[in-house]
Amino acid sequence: MVILLFGPPGCGKGTQAVSMARSMGVPSISTGEIFRAECKAGTKIGKLACEILRSGGLVSDEIVNQMVAGRLSQDDCRNGFILDGYPRTKAQAEFLDRLLEEQRLPAPTVIYLDVPDSVLVARITSRRQCPTCSAIYNLLHQPPRHAGVCDNDGTPLIQREDDNEQTILARLKAYHEATGPLVDFYATRDFHRIEGDRTPAEIHAEIEQVLEPALAHAGEPRRG
Ligand SMILES: [Zn+2]
Repeated sequence: MVILLFGPPGCGKGTQAVSMARSMGVPSISTGEIFRAECKAGTKIGKLACEILRSGGLVSDEIVNQMVAGRLSQDDCRNGFILDGYPRTKAQAEFLDRLLEEQRLPAPTVIYLDVPDSVLVARITSRRQCPTCSAIYNLLHQPPRHAGVCDNDGTPLIQREDDNEQTILARLKAYHEATGPLVDFYATRDFHRIEGDRTPAEIHAEIEQVLEPALAHAGEPRRG
């Protein structure tokens, strides 16, 4: 089966993608990973990917689509895959529809991990890091044993520059602008909104429940 995992930055979808991939035995694929792999491979498109990674710049739909299509044509995707954070725009979603049809793969099941902005802001601004060993803490649900210092080495914890409210709000605004039309695009299809303001285990359990009927058919041959 083909699963698309959506959710705002900081919603925990990376964690879910990993646990879903493990329980379903299919790869979890993110565009960041594809870029890094292409860059390492040194192909023509890979050189472009390296440049993009270096500049941290925006990538055209065309390039992203081309790289995703290449990745999805690999052997390990034959029995399905999880796409983590792709498509990101409506143009990418339309491309993916065509690609799935060409490859005779099933229509996607969409999981939308929804977390209110206020919760995300609270979560991210509560993040602290140890500048010595890079351990990450969260004052809300994973605080250090002694306030303000690292469990491992006692170094005073710091807040990363990007983890401030202004930066997060700007990222969320960009996310909602890009993803709003996508939610509309998929809303009438196999679309499942999951309440994301819960523990990873609770979220995982609900996703499994949602996917159960579809997974029952996953062993069947491709359509067409
Ligand atoms: Zn430390």
